[in-house]
Amino acid sequence: LTSLTDEALIALDTLGERASGLFSPSLRLGVTGLSRAGKTVFISSLVHNIVHGGRLPLFEAQKTGRISRARLEEQPDDAVPRFQYEDHIDALVRERIWPESTRAISEMRLTIEYESASGWNRLFSAGKLSVDIIDYPGEWLLDLPLSGKTYQEFSAEAFEMAQSPERADLSAAWRDLSAKVDPNAAADEMQARQLAEGFAAYLKACKADDRALSTLPPGRFLMPGDLDGSPALTFAPLPVSTDSRAKSGSLHAMMERRYEAYKTYVVKPFFRQHIARLDRQIVLIDALQAMNAGPSALIDLERALAEILACFRPGRGSILTDLFARRIDRILIAATKADHLHHESHNRLQQVVRRVADQAIKRADISGASIEVLAMAAVRATREGTVKQGRETLPVIIGTPIKGETIGDETFDGKTETAVFPGDLPSDIDSLFRPSEGENIEPLIRFVRFRPPKLEVTEDGVKLSLPHIRLDRAIQYLIGDRLA
Ligand code: GDP
Repeated sequence: LTSLTDEALIALDTLGERASGLFSPSLRLGVTGLSRAGKTVFISSLVHNIVHGGRLPLFEAQKTGRISRARLEEQPDDAVPRFQYEDHIDALVRERIWPESTRAISEMRLTIEYESASGWNRLFSAGKLSVDIIDYPGEWLLDLPLSGKTYQEFSAEAFEMAQSPERADLSAAWRDLSAKVDPNAAADEMQARQLAEGFAAYLKACKADDRALSTLPPGRFLMPGDLDGSPALTFAPLPVSTDSRAKSGSLHAMMERRYEAYKTYVVKPFFRQHIARLDRQIVLIDALQAMNAGPSALIDLERALAEILACFRPGRGSILTDLFARRIDRILIAATKADHLHHESHNRLQQVVRRVADQAIKRADISGASIEVLAMAAVRATREGTVKQGRETLPVIIGTPIKGETIGDETFDGKTETAVFPGDLPSDIDSLFRPSEGENIEPLIRFVRFRPPKLEVTEDGVKLSLPHIRLDRAIQYLIGDRLA
């Protein structure tokens, strides 16, 4: 019955939106990726560049001068926090610091007025497109598989994963704690809290550890949004068998009820209200970090990306069933931060992204949407140059390292520019994915965190918008065709 209701609600939502879309065309663009992938920076730069007429030669509508106006408008969903665009731009442009990262869902509406390229379209379309940009943590997507699992199945899988060789040490404290409790004993709030905290600490440790392990559900244990401390988040797996039934009043029963509440009040509404309504999606990945961590981190990134992509595959047995007619028709998988490499390596970085994406697409068995990959920098914090070393000329990147960053024994003050030779990517991309002996490899790329760039000012005193690398390709693919 529950799933019928979900489907009916999705269908109703879609119908309502379709009807209103006839009068005011809109496009819902989802922006996701695991934490620190670059979502906040991407959205801020995209909007800034469109609103301020940035340099976007591959964004066709803008290049041909057909955009008459682009402005922010009130977002359609009153219950979703607004994306703090002004604060983020203030940080990036005025303070030259990176903005606060995504912690929960937020939304903003960018309305573009344009002239259609074809006379036919000019007759029949309003010449106005509202792009609703929805920013949300990729961690939350990893909860979708929970919707089909009982509490007992969830528990069994969680313990199995926790005992795996790569996680055993990180989960030891939580497993010890769990071994001491009796699931059949009377429910106790303090005990539930201790277990939940122990479990959450273990999940966070997996993420923080430089083994760069992929994320495990429940996603809100890592990114609680506004639910921190609520009962729906105060549960943990218990050592119970998959066919066991909870005794009424027991700790087991309490945990099971909360797990079900998490699914009902957190997971399902999120998918129904937000994911099922998206038209386009960009998934940002931090390919540079994974490459630096070595082959197993790259393979892990593949797995995480496959899990994320699977959420956009409407299919039987999930909440996103065939009933919801609205489907994501374009997905862009993008590695941002390409400005950490010299442009000679950008195509190779894109090949790495393609390789990660191809494997993930295969695993996720996704079809029906067109999928593109891209290596880009939403904000370009560096420029390029060359440095002579003996007889060799080395390509370098130049930027202002963030205060406290170090190269060798030099520590930076946040004001001084420096040139860095970032290193090259190998021509044999596959070699990056081959497990190496002992895995203790040198980082491939010298990775220095730079401050956001100083904006160029034209002769008449106009500040140009945020510089980028290939952001225009991303924009063209994600919204360009809707401005035809
Ligand atoms: P989120 O967690 O996905 O919202 O990630 P953010 O957008 O906050 O990005 C995380 C960090 O990555 C930022 O604080 C920057 O240090 C870095 N970053 C993100 N995008 C770029 C980019 O285009 N260029 C550079 N150089 N750094 C970036």
